Amino acid sequence: MTETRKYIDCREFPSESNCSLKISGTENEVVTAAAMHAVAAHGHADSKALREELRSALKDEPQTLVMEKSV
Ligand SMILES: [Zn+2]
Repeated sequence: MTETRKYIDCREFPSESNCSLKISGTENEVVTAAAMHAVAAHGHADSKALREELRSALKDEPQTLVMEKSV
């Protein structure tokens, strides 16, 4: 039942603010959070096109990070 977590790294987007935010979670969580961030921090308009662009920029989070939380 391990769901692959995705991440999006704001440093990969060109911006004048040199934003370094990285968001990780499930695909829908990341797209939703990134869309809100793009609106709040980067002045984008929330739109279907914006979310599609964000979704296409998602990357798989390395599985090794999960081991940090194993008991
Ligand atoms: Zn940002």
